[in-house]
Amino acid sequence: MLLKIQKLLCSKHYKLSKIFIIKKTMSYNQILQHSSHLWISDHTTAQEQTVQSLQNVLCKNNSCQTCTICTQIKTYTHPWTTWLEPQTSYTIDQIDEVIKSVQFTLDAQEFRFFIFTQAEALTTTCCNRLLKTIEEPHHGYHFIFLTDRPQELLPTLKSRCFTKTLQSQSIQHVYHDILEPFITYKFNKPIQFLKLIDKQNIKETATKEIIDLLIEHFYKKLKQTAQESSNHQDLHGYIDIILLLKQALLQLPVQGSSKLFWKNLYLAFDQHQHHVTKTT
Ligand SMILES: [Zn+2]
Repeated sequence: MLLKIQKLLCSKHYKLSKIFIIKKTMSYNQILQHSSHLWISDHTTAQEQTVQSLQNVLCKNNSCQTCTICTQIKTYTHPWTTWLEPQTSYTIDQIDEVIKSVQFTLDAQEFRFFIFTQAEALTTTCCNRLLKTIEEPHHGYHFIFLTDRPQELLPTLKSRCFTKTLQSQSIQHVYHDILEPFITYKFNKPIQFLKLIDKQNIKETATKEIIDLLIEHFYKKLKQTAQESSNHQDLHGYIDIILLLKQALLQLPVQGSSKLFWKNLYLAFDQHQHHVTKTT
């Protein structure tokens, strides 16, 4: 089906096919490029996104969510993944277990991932014991440290990790009211919407974050539609919306023009919706 969409995109001269690849290869490369990662986010987000990232790396079918590999990763039972939870803090025994299991060399296509779900619970002793191991592991071994309190980690651990802040689900929560008309296609309250932009004091940075969230939302919809049905009209609708948002990203508001930006985007969506309804 993905092939079909890509053909569709080509036939329409859409340059969007990149999206499919970027999504996958970015996290694929990002993960495999570094042996140690520090991912900062609230507990739930960190855990969810780690699952997703591991699926990106290990699933042979584009993080399909249905194969054995995806399911095993989701249920924390994939044999290549070890999820380490602390009691109150991690124990030396847990660390030694890890050190013992990374001594073997792996085949080129083999991987092992050790996920410390609460890295801030690593004691100084545990940390020091781990440092050498995470610094120069054999090929295929990767360590992922998750935390919502990076300030509590030892600098020596932090400095050895590729650090990334994962976008928290709560951002979606914060912007819920602003996202709503776009996601539900209800554009009958332009004045209230602009008041909301004012009230929430949506500036340039927030604008970019919200647009990114919307792109992600519609990208998911597109992928879902592509997998579940082949309704070309829906697919085209989503593609148009994503292009609209990508275009908006290129013309992000400069200081003081956020309100105008959002007004235009709101109207553009409203128009697009009318257009779609008319042609249906
Ligand atoms: Zn899969």
